Amino acid sequence: MKKMCLGIESTAHTFSAGILDFDGNVYSLINDIFIPEEGGLHPALVREQHLNNFMRIINRALTESKISAKNLNLIAFSQSPGLGPVLKIGAWVARILSQVLEIPIIGVNHCIGHIEIGRLKCNIEDPLTLYVSGGNTIVSAFESERYQIFGETLDLALGNMIDSFARDAGLKHPGGPKIETLALRSKNFIPLPYVVKGMDLSFSGLYTAAKNLLHSDEYGKKFSLNDIAYSLQETAFGMLSEVTERALAHTEKREVLLTGGVAANKRLQAMIEDISKEHNARFEVVPIKYAGDNGAMIGWAGILRYKAEGGFNISETIIQPKKRMDEITIPWRS
Ligand code: AMP
Ligand code: MG
Repeated sequence: MKKMCLGIESTAHTFSAGILDFDGNVYSLINDIFIPEEGGLHPALVREQHLNNFMRIINRALTESKISAKNLNLIAFSQSPGLGPVLKIGAWVARILSQVLEIPIIGVNHCIGHIEIGRLKCNIEDPLTLYVSGGNTIVSAFESERYQIFGETLDLALGNMIDSFARDAGLKHPGGPKIETLALRSKNFIPLPYVVKGMDLSFSGLYTAAKNLLHSDEYGKKFSLNDIAYSLQETAFGMLSEVTERALAHTEKREVLLTGGVAANKRLQAMIEDISKEHNARFEVVPIKYAGDNGAMIGWAGILRYKAEGGFNISETIIQPKKRMDEITIPWRS
């Protein structure tokens, strides 16, 4: 009988349970995603939804995988980084299950989960990874025993910036795919603030400028929402491409991995693919099922750490809402 792990994701909008074996075969993956009616993610509302749904999600994952709880060998949960009240739910559930089932428990850094499931599912060894989602914008690669961060946003995450602009333009959450569609209808580039500081990115000026265009006298006359959507994407993705290119030149990695919810964007994929080709690097996009937040990635990163170091003591399972992935060693790659 194969050893089995239940991975639980609970850092932000998604509560997810994934069941996989210790070789990385995924048997089931069930997500429940909080979608705000207005505004952003209110931690108290997200927490309520996850609290009301976690058992249903885990039970569905068990049923679909045809694995019974008593045949699980490991529980992995997202321990960092994320919204404190939301992280706590996954941590509580994992601690309870680990004690009831008398099986080991492992805490996982969410960003490391994204990278490891990408390496597994794209069959890629040592990539420069771009993790672009609602809550994160990180360019990282493995060096000196850690996933080092070569560039990151100094303020808004890329997905959050696009979603916020879309909301201002009257589009429902999530705005990213809608902005992508509108952008395809324009080639009229409006210059917007392009802010790269060293290797880091800042999207707040770009966001404010794009939002201000919606209220300008010329809106609807000299330019349209399509033009702003197009210019916003070209500017933001251009910034990300610049940082990616420099990180590639510096690290000399031969592979590039694009992951996170924004990885679904075809224009972003094309721009990063071009840069990868220029540097003779293989380019891969994580399959969308595994690019967004999911319990399988938490399970897989948990299995890798468990195989290398064994399980955590319960005292080591306290959530770490602010922990960065470059603070954590990666023994399975050293
Ligand atoms: P995640 O935080 O990884 O679950 O991903 C959600 C984020 O991805 C949200 O900000 C979405 O707007 C964004 N997103 C999803 N599809 C696209 C797309 N096609 N283009 C741009 N952003 C997208
Ligand atoms: Mg994520």
